[in-house]
This record gives sequence, structure tokens and C-alpha cells, in this order.
Amino acid sequence: MNIITDGMDIVIDFLKESNFNEKKFKQYISSPQMKIFLRHEKRLKRQTNKETVKKELKRVFLNEGYEDNYGFYVLRRNIIQLEKDVKYVKENEKEIIKRVSTHVYKYLPDKMEINPNIVIYIGGLDGGFATFTRDVYINIGRYIGNLKEFEKVLAHEFYHARHISIKKKAVLFFKINFHPEKVMYDSLGRILEEGIACLVQHGSSFHIDDPIGTLTNRDMLLSKDYFEILNRALQSIKDEKPDYRLICRINPYVLGYIISKTIYKDKGLPILDEWTLNFNYKKPIKTYINICRKKGKPSGFNSEIEEWIINL
Ligand SMILES: [Zn+2]
Repeated sequence: MNIITDGMDIVIDFLKESNFNEKKFKQYISSPQMKIFLRHEKRLKRQTNKETVKKELKRVFLNEGYEDNYGFYVLRRNIIQLEKDVKYVKENEKEIIKRVSTHVYKYLPDKMEINPNIVIYIGGLDGGFATFTRDVYINIGRYIGNLKEFEKVLAHEFYHARHISIKKKAVLFFKINFHPEKVMYDSLGRILEEGIACLVQHGSSFHIDDPIGTLTNRDMLLSKDYFEILNRALQSIKDEKPDYRLICRINPYVLGYIISKTIYKDKGLPILDEWTLNFNYKKPIKTYINICRKKGKPSGFNSEIEEWIINL
């Protein structure tokens, strides 16, 4: 496991200039750093390309007050701190990995492998992402001066990058790509995957908002509204007319965190492991409903959906 910071010096060197430097920009635009950023933007179907990046960067250099869509202005305004942070990460690579791994294993079975390469990148407003090739990408620009939260988001992405056997991956691939299971993985499966990752990131008592806003105290207060969207999405699936507009609006972080935390506090890890190891969404979700029933607390699901899930 390594933390790869290749190319960060090129970006920092370019952003430190007082004026837009064409030569340094050319180096930056053709660097692996830029490739990672552009590939990620493309994967999310955003209209980002070399030209849009150049245009925005030029405006940032020209006008101190301009706030671009990719967050480059934040990087430029905090360039000294960013440089310090990158240096710290480089010099303390092993300690950081050790701390994060120890933390993640509190929520993972001992025998499960996590062995990702961590690539530090910059650009855009996302905090990071993990790929099926077991690489974890973290946008350090979102955590300037906040390396504690940086380590917490690493833990989140480590969970997504857990090692899964080829056989299990193949089964999952089949399930998530073919109807009728696909819609269940896009809704309840996604909720568990992000929910457990958020549990790993924040622990079982939530205090501090995620700097990139995936999980905030405000969202937690609005959980009833998020459950309402989920109920409507599940109703459409139940009626065999899955409404993808609704399914896309499900907030897997907030709902997933509430559900995973409830299961974790009442039953510990074994039920969550059903998802972590086997991608079984039924058992954890049913267990969640049963815990709520036992405690006489509303689950957030309406009674029709609750019955439907229990009988899945
Ligand atoms: Zn995630």
C-alpha cells in the first residue's frame, strides 16, 4: 500500500505563480494529475475538458475574486497550506496508512484484505472516489489544513476498495447489471455500501460535518424527507415500474448511515458483514426494520414498504 503524490509538485508550482504561466500550464495539463481529474469528470458525464479547465484557470489568475466551478481559486488562495499538507503526507505516508488501516479494521472482518494504492489528486469538488481496480483517489484540495478529515475520508474509500474475490465480483456484476435485481442494488444496495463506508468514516456517533458535504448535521435532521423519497422509489420498484428519476434522488449517505449505525449499535458487525462480504442486502435491511419494531421506533419506511421488505 502506497500513497502516490506524483505530479503534485507540478500543480503546486503552476498555481504558485502570480500570473498564468503558459509553459507551466502545458506541463500541468499533460500531467497524470490532470488525466485523473479529467477521467473522473468524464465518468460522471460532466462537460469538463482541457479547454474548459484552461478557460477557468485563466480567469482565476486574472481576477482574484473569481470563484471557478472546479475550486482552483481555493487552491490558489491556500497554496502555502496545500504545499505543507502534501509535504506532510509524503513524509508520514506509513504512519497515515497504519492509522487508517487500524481504524477501518474495526468495521471489517480480520481476514478481509484491503490493499489499495492511494493516489492524491487535485481539481474539482469531489472528495475522492474508489475504483474496482482497488485504487483509491483522494482530492487533497478539499482537505487543505484539515488532514484529520482527510484521514477519515481515506477510511471511507478504503471500505469501498476492500478486496473481493473474482467469483464474488462476477456474481455481483451480474446482479447489478440485470433486471430485476439491478434496481434493488441501485437503491438498497447502494444505501448499504455508502452507509457502511460512512460508518467507517464517522464512527457510530456523528459529530462533524464532512467537509465535502456528503454527510452533514443538517442532512441528519432532514432524514424523514430522505426516507420519503426512498419510500416512493421503492414503491415504484414494488409496482414493477421502477422510476429512475426517484432512484437517483435517493441519498445513500444519510439513509445508509442511519441504517448501518442502528444495526451496528444493536447487533455489532456480523449483520453488516452480510453486505461487506456477500453483497446480501436483504438480511441487513430486514434486521434494521426488526430492531426498530423491537424498540417501538419508526424505521422511516412506510408500513406497506416495510411489509414488502420483510417478505422479500
Ligand atoms: Zn462512498
